[in-house]
Amino acid sequence: LRRYGLAPRSTAIDAQSLDSRFLDSARLLAETGRELARRGWTPATSSNFSARVSTDRAAITISGRDKGRLDVDDIMLIDLEGRAVGTDARPSAETLLHTQLYRRYPEIGAVLHTHSHSATVMSRLCADEGEIRIEGYELLKAFRGIATHQSTLVVPVFGNTQDMEELAGEVDAYLDAGHHLYGYLIEGHGIYTWGKDMPEARRHLDAFEFLLSCELEQRRLRP
Ligand SMILES: [Zn+2]
Repeated sequence: LRRYGLAPRSTAIDAQSLDSRFLDSARLLAETGRELARRGWTPATSSNFSARVSTDRAAITISGRDKGRLDVDDIMLIDLEGRAVGTDARPSAETLLHTQLYRRYPEIGAVLHTHSHSATVMSRLCADEGEIRIEGYELLKAFRGIATHQSTLVVPVFGNTQDMEELAGEVDAYLDAGHHLYGYLIEGHGIYTWGKDMPEARRHLDAFEFLLSCELEQRRLRP
């Protein structure tokens, strides 16, 4: 190996590659956060974003930071139980809602949560039904695995609570019941969505935002 200039695998090298992967994820999260803030989807330091760094580590926004000014210093490393790794910083209060997805689905690479206007209003309008059914839009094809506008996207609306264990339990129960899920709303709060990597998570978030704003506009025009 050495003859070809390749170092043998060692713990030190693994740690180094974890560091550099964390830094790549932190840069990507900061850039993504600033973009989403420019769209007005992250008011008043709300919202949180994460990316998988390895099988058992993720990078996530530190609690309470202004998402319009995110930098790599605003991102921290956590394990998949939501505990800080190598830092005293405090992760987002909603970290458990991110880590439950990484634990459950090894293929998930990024999770995005915003408090946008459309998601918040629609979550209140549809709280009683407990879900929003989105049908007939060409843009449904933005979601992984959906190939036609003749599809129905069911978006559950979970009740809001400050008890993250309880909320994560509701999401798990929904998934345990065999429902396929691209994202969900929390009443009066916002939206969670994800993807295999950041571009896919962004595409899903953009599609949700567009579709929810269309649904909202339709209800305004034809209540
Ligand atoms: Zn939130």
